[in-house]
Amino acid sequence: MTELPVITHWIDGAPALGVSTRTAPVYNPALGAVAKNVLLADGADVDTAVASAQAAYPLWRDTSQAKRQGIMFNFRELLNARKGDLADILTAEHGKVSSDALGEIARGLEVVEFALGMPHLSKGEYSENVSTGVDVYTLRQPLGVVGIISPFNFPAMVPLWFFPIAIAAGNTVVLKPSEKDPSASNWMAALMTEAGLPNGVLNVVHGDKEAVDALLVHPDVQAISFVGSTPIAKYIYETAAHHGKRVQALGGAKNHMLVLPDADLDLAADAAVNAGFGSAGERCMAISVVVAVEPVADELVAKITERLKGLKVGDGMRGCDMGPLITKVHRDKVASYIDLAHTDGAEVVVDGRGIEVDGDANGFWLGPTLFDKVSTDSDAYLDEIFGPVLSIVRVASYAEGLALINRSRYGNGTAIFTNDGGAARRFQNEVQVGMIGINVPIPVPVAYHSFGGWKDSLFGDAKAYGPAGIAFYTREKAITSRWLDPSHGGINLGFPQND
Ligand code: NAD
Repeated sequence: MTELPVITHWIDGAPALGVSTRTAPVYNPALGAVAKNVLLADGADVDTAVASAQAAYPLWRDTSQAKRQGIMFNFRELLNARKGDLADILTAEHGKVSSDALGEIARGLEVVEFALGMPHLSKGEYSENVSTGVDVYTLRQPLGVVGIISPFNFPAMVPLWFFPIAIAAGNTVVLKPSEKDPSASNWMAALMTEAGLPNGVLNVVHGDKEAVDALLVHPDVQAISFVGSTPIAKYIYETAAHHGKRVQALGGAKNHMLVLPDADLDLAADAAVNAGFGSAGERCMAISVVVAVEPVADELVAKITERLKGLKVGDGMRGCDMGPLITKVHRDKVASYIDLAHTDGAEVVVDGRGIEVDGDANGFWLGPTLFDKVSTDSDAYLDEIFGPVLSIVRVASYAEGLALINRSRYGNGTAIFTNDGGAARRFQNEVQVGMIGINVPIPVPVAYHSFGGWKDSLFGDAKAYGPAGIAFYTREKAITSRWLDPSHGGINLGFPQND
C-alpha cells in the first residue's frame, strides 16, 4: 500500500512536523477517497507557532510601510499569476467546480488589493491648536500576534479576508484553517514567503478543537478572527473574550430571498438557482429559502424546477455546474432533510438522491433538491442545512415575508427581487439582516466595504475586512502635545480645560 502524503504545519517560514502525531484524513470528495492526512496540532505545537509569530513581531511592526506594501504587492502578483494552481487545490479538497474556485480566489485577491492601501487606510488624524499651543493627533498601531480560525467552505477566500490586512497593518499571524481542506493555507503561506515575507510573520497550524482551544487562551495572542458555524462562533467569542482578547466571530446563516409579485420571475428563478446551488449550497451567503409572495409561487417553482433539470453535477475538474459535498457524513446529514421535510408536510419537488453524476460513483454526491410549501416550524426551514437544498415558503404579502425573515435567528444575508423601488427601499430599512441584496442574490460586499451579519451570524461588533478590518487589526493612540514656553508655568490642580 502506498503511503498517503502528510500535510504539515507551516512555522517560521518552513514546513514543520510539530510534536503531535495525531492526524485527520483529507478527502477528495469527488472520489470519496482519502487523498492525504493532515497533522493535528496539540498545545505545544500551537505554542511553537505563536512563539515564532511573537519573535517576528518587533521587526515586522517596525518595518516601513513601503517595504510591507512591496511584499504585499509581490504576493498579489504571484497569487494572480498562479491562481489556477490554487483553484486546483480547492477543487481537489473541497470539491467546488473550477470556475467557482477561481471566483473564490478573485474575491480573496480583492482583499489583498485593498490591503495594499494600508499606508493610506491606517493614517491617523491631526488637530492643530485644540487649546493654545496644544495639538492632538491619533495614530493606529498593530496589535501583535493575531489568530485566524477558518471554515472548510472557503479555504482560500476566508483566510484572505483576514491575513493580508492583519499583516499589512504590522501584525504577525497564526492561521488555523479547516482540517477538512487544509492545503490552500500552506500554499498561500509559502507564496507569502516567496513574495518576501520574513519568516514567522505568517504561520499555519493545522488541527481541531485542541489547537483552537490552545490559541483562544494563549497569553501572547492578542486577537481572534473566526468564521464557522454558529455554535462554535459563540463558543469562540465567549472563550476568547474571557481571556481578554479582541474577537470577531462570524457564524452560520439561513438566507431568505423575498420575491415580490412584480418581479421578473425568469430573472428571479435564475438568481435563486445560482445562489441556492452554487458550490453545492456550501456558502454562508447561499440562498436557502425563497419566500414567494402570492400569487407567483406556482409559476416561480415551475421555473426553478425547469432550471434544476439542466444542472450538471460531477467532478469539479470536468466543467460541471455543481460538485460533491465536503464529506460523506455531511452529505448524509443534508440528505436526511429530504425525508424530514416530507414528514413535516413539505412537497419534495426535486429529490437530489441517486442522481446521475459525471464522476466517480463513490463521490459524496447529492443533486439539487427543492422543497415547496415548507412549514416554518420544520427543521428543514429552521436549520442551516448547508447543502444543495432550496426551500420555498409561500406568503400572502410583503409584510408577512418581512416578518418571517426578521423572526430568523440568523441575520447574515438576504435579498429582495422586485421592480418597485419604494418596496426595495422599505425592505433595506426594515429588514434585520447585515447584508442585503436588491435584485442581487449573493450580496457579499466588495473588499472596501465590510462583511458581516447580525444576530446569530456574528458575535462581537467587528465585521470582516474593509474599514472594519483595519479597525480590528489596529489600536488607536491619541496624543496631546505642546512644546513648553514660560506662559505654561504656574500651579493649577484643576482638571485641564481648553482655552
Ligand atoms: P465549523 O464551525 O465546524 O468549523 C470552523 C472552524 O472551527 C474550523 O477551523 C474547525 O476546525 C473549528 N472547530 C470545529 N469544531 C470546533 C470546536 N468544537 N471547538 C473549537 N473549534 C472548532 O464550520 P465549518 O463546517 O468548517 O464551516 C461551515 C460553517 O461556517 C457554516 O455554518 C457557514 O455558515 C459558516 N460560515 C460563515 C461565514 C460567515 O461569514 N458568516 C462564512 C463562511 C462559513
